[in-house]
Amino acid sequence: MTFELKPFDPLTVDPTNKKRVAYFYDSDVGNYAYGAGHPMKPHRIRMAHSLIMNYGLYKKMEIYRAKPATKQEMCQFHTDEYIDFLARVTPDNLDMFSKEQVKFNVGDDCPVFDGLFEYCSISGGGSMEGAARLNRGKCDIAINYAGGLHHAKKSEASGFCYLNDIVLGIIELLRYHPRVLYVDIDVHHGDGVEEAFYTTDRVMTCSFHKYGEFFPGTGELRDIGAGKGKNYAVNVPLRDGIDDATYRSVFEPVIKKIMEWYQPSAVVLQCGGDSLSGDRLGCFNLSMKGHANCVNYVKSFNIPMMVVGGGGYTMRNVSRTWTFESGLLNNVLLEAELPYNDYYEYYGPDYQLDVRPSNMHNANSPEYLSKIMSQIFSNLENTKFAPSVQLNYVPPDMEEYGDVEEDTEKAKDTKGGSQYARDNIIVGDNEFYDTDDLNKEKDVAHYKKSIIPKDYYEKEGAKMAEELENELKKED
Ligand SMILES: [Zn+2]
Repeated sequence: MTFELKPFDPLTVDPTNKKRVAYFYDSDVGNYAYGAGHPMKPHRIRMAHSLIMNYGLYKKMEIYRAKPATKQEMCQFHTDEYIDFLARVTPDNLDMFSKEQVKFNVGDDCPVFDGLFEYCSISGGGSMEGAARLNRGKCDIAINYAGGLHHAKKSEASGFCYLNDIVLGIIELLRYHPRVLYVDIDVHHGDGVEEAFYTTDRVMTCSFHKYGEFFPGTGELRDIGAGKGKNYAVNVPLRDGIDDATYRSVFEPVIKKIMEWYQPSAVVLQCGGDSLSGDRLGCFNLSMKGHANCVNYVKSFNIPMMVVGGGGYTMRNVSRTWTFESGLLNNVLLEAELPYNDYYEYYGPDYQLDVRPSNMHNANSPEYLSKIMSQIFSNLENTKFAPSVQLNYVPPDMEEYGDVEEDTEKAKDTKGGSQYARDNIIVGDNEFYDTDDLNKEKDVAHYKKSIIPKDYYEKEGAKMAEELENELKKED
């Protein structure tokens, strides 16, 4: 089977197929700030929440404030010393931790800010409690937009992510579910989640992302898992400018095939909003509906589902899209006219629930997509005998998932996010050898190391100053 471009059909819902939806929100989350000018703004979660409530979705679903994740819970995936560091470090005592800052990769992309640990606890608590409710059959769908922080590693922050709430949620799901599918539609590769489950067949990870001179530099077509996990990692490397029809024509057949062959008993969908058209850090051309189609499609398989947030750096578009998607999860197609809400002014001049595509070039040719799809399908056919394990099996410590060792040749090949790989990529500064080639290598090192493009602050400076001013005005 190869790529076949299908038209983008209007989204539909089936009001007779009602799901019990548990929505997790902690009103503190919008108060945390990565720092002035930083593209990641937890405030967008509060904006989405205000829209969701003002559309009346609270009547359709149960709203919860999760218990924040404890250090002990976090250490089911992360190392004690890393979590200990997150719990202790503050902007005031930062200079006491200069060694740790390097070791745990905090700094530019992942700054230490006030309340960092509490912010992580909220994000992790929502995903863990969501998973626990799904496990107990208390809901069919759990939503946590404070989660989705897919780049965080076992003992390292990365790409604005410190705590991997998704891995913690999946570990919880594995207590009851023999096979869990993880689907990631963020514009960036879901490297932290893939790495955590790279060597197990109990979790299949499937990431659709921009690949090629883009953060985090991993997620090649040929990265398919290792050991027992071979063929249980799926990577769909895409090029700039993918539109709704093209995305749908790749996403639906790949997910359908995975559902048929792997037969997961639960699914986690990471809904990063940086794959939307006009995102500050992204390069795709999805409309709100093109993005939401993925949510609707995964939901149509009727298996217990966890929906988490992720990236998304044009706040008004992220909040629009997560609101529309919350509607779909409750079988409602929300009307286009925005209701009045706490952040109404942000949505001008049109005040509509929509994110429109642009006229940017779609660099994904049918030939290229055919090539990647036929490779993916042939790999999936090796997973025919989906692993079955005794139900109620409680997974042992993460150690026993056989994480691929850091700092080995193997790790270098399959886990571009490892320290080993980075040590081998980063080119030292040397003004005497500043040739064009070296600059090129430096650029490569930069995008693999940083999710923020080099010229971001330059390009966004004026816009950001304006936005900050508007935000401050609103606070008055
Ligand atoms: Zn992202």
